[in-house]
Amino acid sequence: RAKQSGRNRFGFFTADLEARTARALQIENALRRALERNQFELHYQPQVSLATRQVVGAEALLRWKHPELGMVSPAEFIPVAESSGMIVAIGEWVLNTAVHDAKRWLDLQLPLRAVSVNLSAVQFRHPQLPEMVTRCLQQAGLPARRLELELTEGAAVDDPAAALAMMDQLHDRGVRLSMDDFGTGYSSLSYLKRFQIYKLKIDQSFVRDLDDDANDRAIVSAIIRMAQALGMQTTAEGVETDGQLEFLRAQGCDEGQGYLFSRPLAADAFEAYLREHLGR
Ligand code: C2E
Ligand code: MG
Ligand code: MG
Ligand code: MG
Repeated sequence: RAKQSGRNRFGFFTADLEARTARALQIENALRRALERNQFELHYQPQVSLATRQVVGAEALLRWKHPELGMVSPAEFIPVAESSGMIVAIGEWVLNTAVHDAKRWLDLQLPLRAVSVNLSAVQFRHPQLPEMVTRCLQQAGLPARRLELELTEGAAVDDPAAALAMMDQLHDRGVRLSMDDFGTGYSSLSYLKRFQIYKLKIDQSFVRDLDDDANDRAIVSAIIRMAQALGMQTTAEGVETDGQLEFLRAQGCDEGQGYLFSRPLAADAFEAYLREHLGR
């Protein structure tokens, strides 16, 4: 009997694994054609100053709509794009599109202090990254200080010395760097102080339960105080309630991003949002 249920469990597990592998293969094949078929779109989520409630920036978030697969979440296709190397070409499309959009808004007198673009660890290890970033900025005519690149802690763990050199190169080109999902990875504090990081983005897993979890409140206020002591800005991710907003503001967090302010919006909807919130 034990044997049988063991076999059933194994059989179930295998079928599940096969289904997941088939889906990953399907995604990988479809992803190969996605760029040329114009299936990608960027959505933008406002980043709001907690002191003034002004929109100060926006994070570009990649969306993929496939005719049969439907909307595929970046959480599902970004890992496939990374393991297949396609993330380099996709990432260049993202950067190009985001800096052109930011330049258009600047020219329309709808200035964002900066547009933020996510960089995967694979892109971050690519030796041509600084040249690619500069080329995109020059083609769009966007000043480098208007671009922020979001790295995750994973980008720096394998080879901290190489990460340090890459951050220095990007920083020297005038681009701002932020550490995304801060607190969920393996970054060592001894490296953090040496990295050219402008901003820490407090991961939404610490923000979600702020209203009723004293441990999360302790962690978040410690991150904010550490960032202040190191001369870094802070942005809280996943802000959904007034209670979270009040706590974050009282602790001196600089900016918030989350459904309380707005969901990520398609470019034209985001432009309308900017007109409404920047005024004039
Ligand atoms: P992330 O960079 O940490 O982006 C924040 C995620 O939180 C986004 O999910 C956003 O839609 C979601 N979010 C924002 N506000 C709230 C909120 O109030 N509540 C909740 N529950 N969620 C909120 P999304 O767009 O599905 O992206 C997931 C991840 O995919 C991103 O996490 C990022 O790691 C990756 N990603 C997205 N676009 C790109 C891209 O262009 N390049 C790369 N390399 N990664 C990307
Ligand atoms: Mg991000
Ligand atoms: Mg994040
Ligand atoms: Mg995340």
